[in-house]
Amino acid sequence: MSKIADIQKLLTSGAISCRELTLSYLDAIEKQNSILNAFITVTPETALLTADAVDKKLKAGEALLPLEGVPMALKDNLSTAGIKTTCASRALSNYIPIYDAFVWSLLYRQNAPLLGKCNMDEFAMGSTCETSFFGGAKNPHDLTRVAGGSSGGSASAVASNLAPYALGSDTGGSIRGPASFCGLVGLKPTYGTVSRNGAVAYASSLDQIGPITTCIQDAAAVFDVISERDENDMTCVGASEKTLPLLGRPLNGTKIGIADEFFEDVNPDVCQAVQNASRTLQKLGAELVPVSFPMLKYALPVYYILADAEASSNLGRFDGIRYGPAADSYDDINDMICKTRDMVFGKEVKRRILLGTYVLSAGYFDAYYKKAQMIREAMTRQMKNDIFKKCDMLLTPTDPVTAMPFGTNMSPVETYQKDICTVTANITGLPALSAPCGYDGANLPIGMQLIGKPFCEADILNAFYLFEKETDGTFLTNLEMGYRL
Ligand code: GLN
Repeated sequence: MSKIADIQKLLTSGAISCRELTLSYLDAIEKQNSILNAFITVTPETALLTADAVDKKLKAGEALLPLEGVPMALKDNLSTAGIKTTCASRALSNYIPIYDAFVWSLLYRQNAPLLGKCNMDEFAMGSTCETSFFGGAKNPHDLTRVAGGSSGGSASAVASNLAPYALGSDTGGSIRGPASFCGLVGLKPTYGTVSRNGAVAYASSLDQIGPITTCIQDAAAVFDVISERDENDMTCVGASEKTLPLLGRPLNGTKIGIADEFFEDVNPDVCQAVQNASRTLQKLGAELVPVSFPMLKYALPVYYILADAEASSNLGRFDGIRYGPAADSYDDINDMICKTRDMVFGKEVKRRILLGTYVLSAGYFDAYYKKAQMIREAMTRQMKNDIFKKCDMLLTPTDPVTAMPFGTNMSPVETYQKDICTVTANITGLPALSAPCGYDGANLPIGMQLIGKPFCEADILNAFYLFEKETDGTFLTNLEMGYRL
């Protein structure tokens, strides 16, 4: 099962040209985007230029590169030279970068036609995509519900087949959450495998870029292309092996840990679906091992202290001087910056900047930021020295709930609690993969998560690949609005 491989087959057999294929996606976007709000910017010129280059290669009988000719979309916090990159914020609503994010340059070199830039929570802060300056992206499974966040537009586009795959970014669950809400596969790679160069920073020690796809094989194919070492991101070493050829290995001997802590306060339908999936994995040869992760209770406070602290620093550059609109009446430079920042940031972003500044300020630094860093270290050690001594990977729900209706009036803390299962992988830098494993009573997709050992993307992809095969792709989303394969 691979949409990417199917599309490439159509292209190489001559059943369709890359231009025709790209046009059919662009046409679907034009018809559906006003409903879904998945794209902030659509980029037909770029897409068609690339498509024509692919057609030329095909005509000359040249072989295609792994992702060549397959249209795709990028989250709108990934810089694209000459193309608006808004981060779904008023602060960058007209910002056009002068250079490409490294991941985009890798895809560009593969001749991947770029369909557009996807909606997201403002500066990737949120779990429902509702903090977007442009309004939230809708869930194609139920248009009254959110697509998840923060990469909600990427997930909405892929689930509705307005794009075969998309890239998202994940600081605390922003790839995996929307993937689980929309019935898709989402991979948050090990910190340091994918370059962050040109991704607008939210929390630099937690951010990673990864694929949102309709199936495991495609996640592996995209990861294999984007996980390249980048000398301009000193934290990026890349991946040492390709994962796609490693799919299909038997699970015999693989130990999958189950920690009860991840199942507390989780919706019963979600618990049930993940438990059923664990039995399927067992049937496939995996051994289920009970483990315990008592430090999970610190995960949310640690995450929100560290993420907000880093965000308050990273967002300092949006001051009305270097980027975006500025207040037009003010007393002095300080007043100008204050008024501008008040004007260009939404409520959630301001809340994070205030919280982050607070935990870093003299007198509170030791009590909050330093303590959170120490607990982060302890959590990482517990994962390494305890959990991963007993098992090879950890199975959890991705989200404690399924997609909620728009405007569900959750307090900030209630929204933050939604991230309980995903933030640990970011805090500890571990790779984590979400894949669909069932539906709730309202027929909404449920996602399960595997957290792996550092740089073991191939193993978690393999386990869910076997699950997907065993269940015959039953839980994969197939709402064809774009080009029908
Ligand atoms: N929901 C989390 C937050 O708001 C995670 C967001 C993300 O991964 N970018 O910070």
